[in-house]
Amino acid sequence: MYRDKTRVIHIGNKVIGGGNPILIQSMTNTHTEDASATIAQIKRLEDAGCEIIRCTVPTIEAAEALREIKKNINIPLVADIHFDYKMAIAAMENGADKIRINPGNIGGRDRLSEVVRCAKERNIPIRVGVNSGSLEKDLVEKYGGVTAEGIVESALDKVAMIEDMDYHEIVISIKSSDVLMCARAHELIAEKTSYPLHVGITESGTLWSGNIKSSLGLGMILSQGIGDTIRVSLTGDPVEEVRTAKLILRTLGLRSGGIEVVSCPTCGRTRIDLIGLANKVEEMVADIPLDIKVAVMGCVVNGPGEAKEADIGIAGGIGEGVLIRHGEVIRKIPEDELLDALRDELLHWND
Ligand code: SF4
Repeated sequence: MYRDKTRVIHIGNKVIGGGNPILIQSMTNTHTEDASATIAQIKRLEDAGCEIIRCTVPTIEAAEALREIKKNINIPLVADIHFDYKMAIAAMENGADKIRINPGNIGGRDRLSEVVRCAKERNIPIRVGVNSGSLEKDLVEKYGGVTAEGIVESALDKVAMIEDMDYHEIVISIKSSDVLMCARAHELIAEKTSYPLHVGITESGTLWSGNIKSSLGLGMILSQGIGDTIRVSLTGDPVEEVRTAKLILRTLGLRSGGIEVVSCPTCGRTRIDLIGLANKVEEMVADIPLDIKVAVMGCVVNGPGEAKEADIGIAGGIGEGVLIRHGEVIRKIPEDELLDALRDELLHWND
């Protein structure tokens, strides 16, 4: 697998590449200059399972705020830089564990070389980010439009600029909102380089469309053994990005841990508010540290049988439901006590 052979890169207290676990990233949407708001958001993201966090650094105040932010969080902090090499240097001086730049738009070779020198002194990795939306004109012309081949060439050109400065602590990200193009670009680049890849579908949209596009795109890429760290981009609360990323990794068998909730689609037999109940169960189990499957089924006739693979579950009836374990009914419970009964079972799972 490609990811087993990628170069190992240290990002603060975490490691990616070389077959290490795929780490989940997100990005804050606070003003980085507002350190307390940014810290509060990162804390929520850490609790949700975020393992690397990126903050935009558009001003010197934002770069300086990184120092305070870093003191108050436990996960590596990545500075997102656009255009201004001074921000990249200031971010590193203020404790960034990694920087994300596009070497092509940082102001020329001399300025890039200053950034690389600063990174080298501190052994800070550089993520080279290329986005299909900003593909160079000559590559658009060469390939007859924006193509996977063009994106890959652009990324490798940027990587070569840093390699020429004798620096190799590099992570690559190539992004496109076109899911198929993005998947193809990752297949191509995996054949040409051994740097770890940060994978994500850019501008994927709101919670609904973004989750679908990200799941498909990341699914196609990760299932080929490609990808060392992921970010799900959603127009919404970044905590949702982390929840989705965790489920994607778990669904692909790339992560264990956490409770998986399965629920039936409901049908004419359903006599309880199963949709409401399933949502409440999903929310309830989010912070329970077990690695099991929980079923939420709509009826006692088919529910227990259909939930055979679940470790535990509930199935609704009329005014009451049943608690089930591996498809067997354990006991009857009044409908309004179903959720509490399930929670109780989970909290005493290992007793
Ligand atoms: S478990 Fe019962 S309610 Fe749910 S879909 Fe199956 S038959 Fe319908």
